[in-house]
Amino acid sequence: MLVTHGHSDHSPLAKPLANWAGCLTYAKNSGVPTAKGELGSADDLGFMPDVQIGDGDVISGPGWTLDVIETPGHTCNHLCFGLREENACLTGDHIMGWSTTIVAPPDGDMGDYMRSLDKIEERNFSIMWPTHGSPIREDVNGFIQSYRNHRLDRESAIIKHLEAGETNIPKMVESMYADVDKRLHPAAALSVLGHMLKLVEEGRVETADANPTVRSEFRWKALQQTS
Ligand SMILES: [Zn+2]
Repeated sequence: MLVTHGHSDHSPLAKPLANWAGCLTYAKNSGVPTAKGELGSADDLGFMPDVQIGDGDVISGPGWTLDVIETPGHTCNHLCFGLREENACLTGDHIMGWSTTIVAPPDGDMGDYMRSLDKIEERNFSIMWPTHGSPIREDVNGFIQSYRNHRLDRESAIIKHLEAGETNIPKMVESMYADVDKRLHPAAALSVLGHMLKLVEEGRVETADANPTVRSEFRWKALQQTS
């Protein structure tokens, strides 16, 4: 039994189902600290696969061969599976059929997510089977590109706020998500934090906090050079 990641709508039934079917569970890991010191799962911390798998592993049976593809971003332990016989990708929550995925720090990482989009695009799959939404049967790489563009547009909007001297995520959210229900603003703030941490990693934004949160102050580095 293959599990893409340790979220509560994915992994909790894996063990009982595997016990019922008499098989083992396979996943990257879950609930254990990673090299980044983060948890391997945002919420199903009790899940641990019987067999830990990662990039380069191949799992096969009669008539099917699956390549394991590590795709951190949505969670740091996310996996996709490539079905060789159909040039298909089981994308889990990395690429959803109905909307862009959630990338919420600390388990989610926007830089990793963008690199994981590249990783799936490079494989030129013919079809993607997400766990939420309809399969993507046509122009798979165009679909991935549209998700990448969505994130880059959001990043550009954040940079505009930073360039204007805004340092505060909740204020950016109020403006960027003005037409969105306020109850969703905390989730939006986490998404903006995901972008911000990517910009910090790239050296374009700075913050005094070693472990930045949505309450941290962020500064666009170019501002220092011009002021
Ligand atoms: Zn998920």
